[in-house]
Amino acid sequence: MPEIKHPQDAIVRVTRSCICGSDLHLYNGNVPDTRVGTTFGHEFCGIVEEVGPEVTKIKVGDHVLVPFNVACGECHFCKQGMFGNCHESNTQASAVGGIFGYSHTAGGYNGGQAEYARVPYANVGPTVIPEGMDPDDAVLLTDVVPTGYQAAEMAGIQKGDTVVVFGAGPVGIMAARCSWLFGAGRVIIIDKEDYRLEFARNYANCEAYNFEKDMDDPVVFIKKQTDFMGADCVIDAVGAEAAGNAMQTITGRKLLLQAGSATAMHWAINSVKKGGVVSVVGVYGPTDNLIPMGNVLNKGLTIRGNQASVKRLLPRLIEHVQNGVINPKALITHRIPLEEVADGYRMFSAKLDNCIKPLLVFPS
Ligand code: NAD
Ligand code: ZN
Repeated sequence: MPEIKHPQDAIVRVTRSCICGSDLHLYNGNVPDTRVGTTFGHEFCGIVEEVGPEVTKIKVGDHVLVPFNVACGECHFCKQGMFGNCHESNTQASAVGGIFGYSHTAGGYNGGQAEYARVPYANVGPTVIPEGMDPDDAVLLTDVVPTGYQAAEMAGIQKGDTVVVFGAGPVGIMAARCSWLFGAGRVIIIDKEDYRLEFARNYANCEAYNFEKDMDDPVVFIKKQTDFMGADCVIDAVGAEAAGNAMQTITGRKLLLQAGSATAMHWAINSVKKGGVVSVVGVYGPTDNLIPMGNVLNKGLTIRGNQASVKRLLPRLIEHVQNGVINPKALITHRIPLEEVADGYRMFSAKLDNCIKPLLVFPS
């Protein structure tokens, strides 16, 4: 049972919590300093159980959604809306700001795949779920919707652009959906799981191709689709792929050397047009260093990446959900009681049972 440690903390009784593709990087051992005993889970919502004396924005009994970023709201970066890059919430001198349940490289905060969570800076992140909003929609506003949206935003889509999205997981599917909101003229998603491609085709109204079945080489395929120009914008919604036992111990500290290969990143850089933009939301380890730099240079590319800044995007995304522009809960394919979370990880990781987004549910 977590306790209030700081006057701006709140304790939230979790009612819904998702498993995310980002959790699979932890699960596969690809994020350094993932300590035994730290609770995973960065996509959750629940009921405020207790608040510290300096918490004024939420009160006991409120139903809140909790952005995955832990953010102070006051540092140089938070003030610019870069809540994903908060300087105060992660004292590990790491590149990233604090993230719930995402190892000690992201601040070592316990997450929300648990009955209760301690939520620091409770005047900043937690947001009261608007009247009438389904909590299944609300929980996806903690990560998947803002991340997909920010992926499209960072891609710098101009009216009529061809956008290619690598990865048809929840994030890639949402990025494809949101690309239309930025004026895309054509959206192509690429994955190897037919059931996900089928889902993406319907949900995001995009073209969907299987890189193992529909083509020999995705780069050549995309070139052929675009008059050999390359795509205007490419989104990497895959990130590092697990490559087994690659953790290295250096001077007693775990350091990630080459935990994953970066196939999607290579494909993205090589299939975007000259002068194009590659938008990276797929997660790489802190020291993954696998970019074909020569092609970035010779093609004059812009590469943008970030953790999504959930809080910045929430007002407009809440509106999109309320107006039916985005329907997040359609992504939820499985509802799993907390006690069966291990089975949930196995299923999601192995892409079994047509799983797209598993939701952990808690007794009310
Ligand atoms: P997921 O694991 O459900 O989906 C990833 C998909 O990529 C799978 O369907 C897989 O089959 C596919 N894939 C694997 N290799 C591929 C390749 N070479 N080309 C194309 N597709 C390939 O994960 P998700 O929940 O959708 O998350 C996607 C990525 O986004 C993960 O890396 C996750 O960590 C990251 N993420 C980032 C943020 C952020 O704020 N930047 C937030 C959430 C998730
Ligand atoms: Zn997530």
